[in-house]
Amino acid sequence: MNAGTVGLSADTEQEAIVKEAEAFVRNRIRPCVQLFQAEKGIPGSLIRELADHGYLAASLPREYGGLGLDPVYYGLFTEAFGKASPAVRSLLTVHTSLVSETLLRFCSPEQKSLWLPRLTSGQWIGAFALSEPDIGSDAKNIRTQWREEEGHYVLNGRKKWITYGDLADVFVVLAANNGKSTAFLVERTFDGVATRRVEGLMAGGDTYLAEIDLTEVKVPKGHVIGRMNGGFEYVVSTALDHGRYSIAWAGLAIAQEALDAMVTYSRSREQFGQRLSQFQLIRGMIGDAVTKVHAARALCLRAGELRRDRSPDAAIETTIAKYFTSKMAVEVVNDALQVHGANGITDQYPVAKLYREAKVLEIIEGSSQIQQEMISHYGLREYFKRGSKR
Ligand SMILES: Cc1cc2nc3c(=O)[nH]c(=O)nc-3n(C[C@H](O)[C@H](O)[C@H](O)COP(=O)(O)OP(=O)(O)OC[C@H]3O[C@@H](n4cnc5c(N)ncnc54)[C@H](O)[C@@H]3O)c2cc1C
Repeated sequence: MNAGTVGLSADTEQEAIVKEAEAFVRNRIRPCVQLFQAEKGIPGSLIRELADHGYLAASLPREYGGLGLDPVYYGLFTEAFGKASPAVRSLLTVHTSLVSETLLRFCSPEQKSLWLPRLTSGQWIGAFALSEPDIGSDAKNIRTQWREEEGHYVLNGRKKWITYGDLADVFVVLAANNGKSTAFLVERTFDGVATRRVEGLMAGGDTYLAEIDLTEVKVPKGHVIGRMNGGFEYVVSTALDHGRYSIAWAGLAIAQEALDAMVTYSRSREQFGQRLSQFQLIRGMIGDAVTKVHAARALCLRAGELRRDRSPDAAIETTIAKYFTSKMAVEVVNDALQVHGANGITDQYPVAKLYREAKVLEIIEGSSQIQQEMISHYGLREYFKRGSKR
C-alpha cells in the first residue's frame, strides 16, 4: 500500500488508495464471495489481509495506523467493497465506522493510544451492540443494565442482531441505569460474555450476526466510552451517523451492481427475435434505474463533501442519503431481477443475492420509517414560511 507515498497531492494519494482497493476487491474478494456464503463467513486469512492493507482503518488518521481517507474517498472505498461483498462491507461498517470512528471521537488520549492501534491492525475486531431482543428502533429504552461496584461496573442483559458479534474481540455495549444509557468497551474475554450465531437469515448469513449474553460482566472503570449517561445522546447518535454514511454508499453499491447486471443481461438475452434491451418496457426500467443510481450517487457525494467540510448539515444530508439509497436500491434490484426473468431467482446470476441484501439496508442503522421521521422533522422546521398563509 502506498498510503505513505511522499510528494503526491492528498487527492492523488487518496485516489491511488481507492484504485488499489478496487483491484484488491477484484482479485481477492470477488472470486471468493460464493465461498463466504457456503462457509457462513469471511475467513480469518482475508481479515488479516484487509488489516495488512490498512483497509480496516481506511478513514482513520495515520497517527493511529489508518489510511487517512477523507469522507468522500472513504465513501468511494466503501462502494468498491459493497459492490462485491456485503459481508466484507458490513465488517467495514461495524469495525471501522461504528466502532473505531466512535472511539476516535469519544475516547480519552490514553484510551485511544491503547485501543485504536489494536483495532486498526486487526488485532481486535470490533462490533457495536445496541439492539436487543425487545428493543430496536426505540433504542433510548434499552434494558441491558449497569450498576456500579467498587472499582468497576457490572453489566447484565442481552443484545441481539450484532453484526460480526460472533467473531468480534471487543464490543461497544450500551447499557442503562435509571433511564440513562452509557457506552462501555467490553472485551470478549471478560467473564460473563457469551455469544451465539443468529441462524436462518434471508441475508447476512456470512456476517457472524449474533446474540450476546452479558451476565454479571465486570467492566473496568477505564472502559467507559465518553461521558457517563451520555450513551444515547452522544455515542449512539454519532456511531449511527457514521454507520448511516457507510450504509448510504452500501445502497449505492448494490444498486450500481444491479444496474450493471440488468444492462448486461438485457443486451444478451433474446426473446421474440430481439434483444430484451430493444423492448420499450425494459428500457423504461433501465432508464429509471440509471436515473435513481445517478441521483443516489449525487446524494452520497454531497453528504461526503459536507462531512469533509464539517458542515452542520452533514448529519441530516447523510440521513437523507441513507434513506434514499437504501430505498432506491430495493427498487432497482427489484427491476433488475424482473429483467432476468426466471434466471433472476437462481444463484447463477447476482441479482437474487442483491435483492435479499438490499432489503436489509432499509432496516439497519435506523429503519426507513425512522429516517422519514428525522427528515420530516428537519423539513417541517427548515421549509416553514413564517407569516405565509400559503
Ligand atoms: C442484518 C442486520 C444487522 C444488524 N446489525 C446490528 C448491529 O451490528 N448492532 C445493533 O445494535 N443492531 C443491529 N441490527 C438491529 C437493527 O439496528 C434493528 O433491526 C433496527 O434498529 C430496527 O429495529 P427492529 O428490527 O427491532 O424493528 P422495530 O423497531 O421493532 O420496528 C419494526 C417496524 O416498525 C417500524 N417502526 C418502529 N418504530 C416506529 C415509529 N416510531 N414510527 C414508524 N414506524 C416505526 C420500523 O421502521 C419497522 O418497520 C441489525 C439488524 C439486521 C437485520
